[in-house]
Amino acid sequence: MMSEMEQKLRSEAKALLEQGRVDYIIGYEAGSLKFTTTPLITNDKDDVDLLVISPFITNNLSVFLRETNGKAGIVAKGCDSRSIVSLIQDQQVSRENLVIIGVPCSGVIDIAKIETMVGKDRDEIDDIAWEGDKAVVTIGGARKEFSTREVLMDDCLSCEMPTPQEYDILLDEAGHLVCDKELSRSRIKELEDMSPEQRWTYWKNEFSRCIRCYACRQVCPACFCERCFVEESEPQWLSPLPRWQDNLMFQVGRMIHVAGRCTDCGECQRACPVNIPLRSLSKKMEEIVDELFHYKAGTDKDALPLMAHYELDEAEDFIR
Ligand code: SF4
Ligand code: SF4
Ligand code: SF4
Repeated sequence: MMSEMEQKLRSEAKALLEQGRVDYIIGYEAGSLKFTTTPLITNDKDDVDLLVISPFITNNLSVFLRETNGKAGIVAKGCDSRSIVSLIQDQQVSRENLVIIGVPCSGVIDIAKIETMVGKDRDEIDDIAWEGDKAVVTIGGARKEFSTREVLMDDCLSCEMPTPQEYDILLDEAGHLVCDKELSRSRIKELEDMSPEQRWTYWKNEFSRCIRCYACRQVCPACFCERCFVEESEPQWLSPLPRWQDNLMFQVGRMIHVAGRCTDCGECQRACPVNIPLRSLSKKMEEIVDELFHYKAGTDKDALPLMAHYELDEAEDFIR
């Protein structure tokens, strides 16, 4: 059944295209697999009936803004809208060319968590839907209820800004997300509790599995260099071969490059085909940026980007 938010999205998107206020719409349509969505980029007003809002709208669509010309109407959750603001700050996109259709987000459901809890593959599950603050999973007529903290993606568990702060149209009233920050950073805590030697071994093992597909980079709106440092041949910073040392250095370099831009959207970890826990790096980096510079990415479109300015009272104790 179509939700009120989905209905409003479709009529707003249609009006935007019909009135020529945008050249195209960037949103979500149902994916080919159960409980997935896929990006929809269209300038055809008949396609707006394909637009969906569901607990599975994972992609951070702002990544497409640099690849499309003209004026865009873009569907944005809280974290996506912060990525858009960050791109505006970095002068990668222009605010005048955007109509931001804000989704007050209830969090994205992690289908892998549900599959593990019910011991079934997604194809064997009939339905997953929110009923109040419970996720109801229906299998063969039987219902199972799960709490928000059990089913949400790790990044959503600690989301402080689920409702976009920057928008032109808001599809519903601002919502409130129940957070569990401790659970959200439990993997990071495990790493913090390790000795440096244990951490080194942990990441060595993880990055030995990296196949250097670059999916993590491609889905990330903060990774927007025309030419990535891993592809440079003069000088060649890294070997193109997926040796664990080079894989680790690729990710360390990437994390430094997205510092002050990463909005903890969780897309890099979700996209990784070999399930490397990349959020343990990106979230930690986001925390360090906040702690050292009192800076949260994408919260002020008029502010200078973190790496483009310097304050006299900034912490310098990391410079040795
Ligand atoms: S991080 Fe926040 S805004 Fe983004 S999908 Fe999760 S709950 Fe929604
Ligand atoms: S998505 Fe995963 S496997 Fe692919 S390059 Fe990134 S870390 Fe490596
Ligand atoms: S580094 Fe990962 S979590 Fe951060 S903005 Fe990029 S895709 Fe999102």
